[in-house]
Amino acid sequence: MKTYETLRKLHPCLGEMPGNAGRIHLPVSPICNLSCRYCKRSLTEDEIRPGTSRRILPVEDTVKVIRKARLLCPELTTVGIAGPGEALASPHAIEAFRLVDEHFPDMIKCLSTNGLMLFEKAEELLQVHMDSITVTVNAVDPFVQMQINKRIFYHNEWLDGEQAAEILIKNQLAGIKKVSEAGVTVKINTVLIPGINDGHIETIAKAVAENGAKIYNIIPLIPQADMADIPAPGCTEIDRARLQAGQYLDIFAHCKHCRADAVGRLGEEDYGQQIYGNLALEPNHFSHG
Ligand code: SF4
Ligand code: SF4
Repeated sequence: MKTYETLRKLHPCLGEMPGNAGRIHLPVSPICNLSCRYCKRSLTEDEIRPGTSRRILPVEDTVKVIRKARLLCPELTTVGIAGPGEALASPHAIEAFRLVDEHFPDMIKCLSTNGLMLFEKAEELLQVHMDSITVTVNAVDPFVQMQINKRIFYHNEWLDGEQAAEILIKNQLAGIKKVSEAGVTVKINTVLIPGINDGHIETIAKAVAENGAKIYNIIPLIPQADMADIPAPGCTEIDRARLQAGQYLDIFAHCKHCRADAVGRLGEEDYGQQIYGNLALEPNHFSHG
């Protein structure tokens, strides 16, 4: 497992100078166990934002696509899984990382999750030698969380209201603590939602830092789905949130809000079409949670 200091030099989303390192996202995770009010997942060729992908990648194609991607972009240091659904809502992400660990042990393994299952899946993630895990934490107060996420699918049932929010927050913080203590670098994403969690950023940052998270990424809301009428935060609000969070963690400020099938260096040519464009479409495996 690589240390935070090593990752800051090699991982495109954990260092100060991300331009010389690239990442390949494997879009192997189609379903989700949450129902965030801002979520809009799509199989699409051209929209550039989280939750979009050309394809769902069958896990068995993992080694093949990474080999091809490394030929196209030798700067790839990192294999990430960030959807287009939730990486821990199905077994595919951990299965893919098992293949990455076996065939590409030099590459950084990076997972993005909503954290609902992080504590329960921590042992399996440690067995495949995860280097970094990003957890999206939008609130640590159930009242705030209830306004952002409608429900959770947990232990085979959908739950909502305060009970769902409390379980989500508890599992996120316990999961962050468990993997951090094992040496995994934890980054936090927070979707900044004006009028809902913009007054709550410092509290979130303090809580996640106390549980071992190292670095914080503020993602401005994209007004869409049930939050289409909420305006996106402006630069002043984003800067204020970063200043507040920066009292407790390092800040990552270069996020490009990538697709779940992005391939290449941040802000440079994307090879997603060459890598995923020719694979067979599997739309029936994609569902909104
Ligand atoms: Fe969408 Fe699930 Fe991610 Fe929420 S956790 S934004 S519902 S994919
Ligand atoms: Fe990095 Fe942000 Fe792109 Fe994720 S969405 S790979 S954190 S730049």
